[in-house]
Amino acid sequence: MFQEPLDGEVKMFVCGPTVYDFVHLGHARTYLAFDLVVRYLKFLGYRVNYLMNITDVAERIVQRAERLKRDPLQLAREYEAAFLEDMKALGIKDVDRYERASDSIPRMITQVRGLIDKGVAYESETGVYFEVSKFPNFGQLSGQSHEELGLRRLELCSSKRKPEDFSLWRKYSEGLAWDSPWGRGRPGWHIEDTAISMAILGDTYDVHGGASELIFPHHEAEIAQAEALTGKMPFVRCWLHTGLLNVDGRKMSKSLGNVVRIRDALRESTAAELRYYFATFHYREPMVFSKDKLTKAKQKLQLLRTSLSQFLATEPAGAAKDKKRMNALVSKAEIAFRREMNNDFNAPGALSVLHVFVKELAKFGSRMDQETKETAEASFRRMADVIGILS
Ligand SMILES: [Zn+2]
Repeated sequence: MFQEPLDGEVKMFVCGPTVYDFVHLGHARTYLAFDLVVRYLKFLGYRVNYLMNITDVAERIVQRAERLKRDPLQLAREYEAAFLEDMKALGIKDVDRYERASDSIPRMITQVRGLIDKGVAYESETGVYFEVSKFPNFGQLSGQSHEELGLRRLELCSSKRKPEDFSLWRKYSEGLAWDSPWGRGRPGWHIEDTAISMAILGDTYDVHGGASELIFPHHEAEIAQAEALTGKMPFVRCWLHTGLLNVDGRKMSKSLGNVVRIRDALRESTAAELRYYFATFHYREPMVFSKDKLTKAKQKLQLLRTSLSQFLATEPAGAAKDKKRMNALVSKAEIAFRREMNNDFNAPGALSVLHVFVKELAKFGSRMDQETKETAEASFRRMADVIGILS
């Protein structure tokens, strides 16, 4: 599935959070899935350049700040700090750069102006809109025809030419707003991510990730903006989308009131336990959050650790000539691990491989020398560290 990267390193962008509240386990699932992707790419020897945006300019932030009578950017800073704490607590440390939308407004204005110049965007009373009918490939990522798209009304607004047109810039005379050629206002959400990612990763890059609910309209819009602007296709070589996290048949979301914050979950489980639990599902599948399954995952992780300790407690009593049997065991496990992970990052399969491997190590006996033992331990740890379940 994965081709060689374009520039000797894998350039990867993942849609970051809108910082108007604490992040929850739904976010944890997505960001842990991409952490696993990055760890595995590094395991294979790739260099990775991982960029994530922070959406600190958004209607939800402005609305929340108004309710709380707070400055929207200040409020966003607080939740950004909380988000970064949560990422750290989950052991996510491979993001090379976080970039705020509010620090990239000039880049967004340049792109909006470019789209108007290309004839695919127009200014109206309320803002600037992308004219979807001018981009024939719109709908390709989500597999929708133009007729279907016409039925989906995005952003109800009377000053648009067509209901499916989406905003690039919204005019606001007051509140959170910046000067632009179209008066004061704020960028649309989609252009924020296109402007940020292209400025840092280039016109075409390797991987773009996000939750599956972002496929439409967000990622469709990003493709339309980028490709209409540069004429280069594809904008992104590989799209990865994580499945939803459901609770009792409904999406975990603040508006439904069924949210488990990451920081609260980390009071009852360690980061390694949460990582193990999420890795028991393929990243693309929808999953149902269940305390029972989380408890089972913890038990299985404990089993893995017990077997590892058993192996580590075994005193090597063999000689160098005994290497062969252990080497065969290690290389069998490594081949199986790669086979699973090369199959669209199949973490559940990789976990099974680790279980089989560690069980075999635990019952291996003492016919090994110290060096062989250390090689086997290092191999196990390297693979377990891709999923992040030992720390
Ligand atoms: Zn995004």
